[in-house]
Amino acid sequence: MNIKEIIQNIRNRLQKKEELSDEAIQGFLRVLDKVRVEETSCKEVFAQLDEFVEKEIHGQDASRLMPLLREHLDLCSDCCEEYEALMSVLEETARKS
Ligand SMILES: [Zn+2]
Repeated sequence: MNIKEIIQNIRNRLQKKEELSDEAIQGFLRVLDKVRVEETSCKEVFAQLDEFVEKEIHGQDASRLMPLLREHLDLCSDCCEEYEALMSVLEETARKS
């Protein structure tokens, strides 16, 4: 199920004026959270991580420029570790030069 289908499901239910139980809403929200995390895959994050880190090193607001990537880093420990490793290498390099 992708995010568009989920939203469509919610819309359908609302239009039919079916009553959504709190439990159903919670369920939807949980799925949405999961989909959002998975939307940006680790592979995509790895591909853009050097760009992200470079922006940070240059004092740009990388979190604002690449919000999906930031969000993924907050939620995915694998990518976060990779990010921190990359950051420390680059900071080290910056200090030496
Ligand atoms: Zn990841």
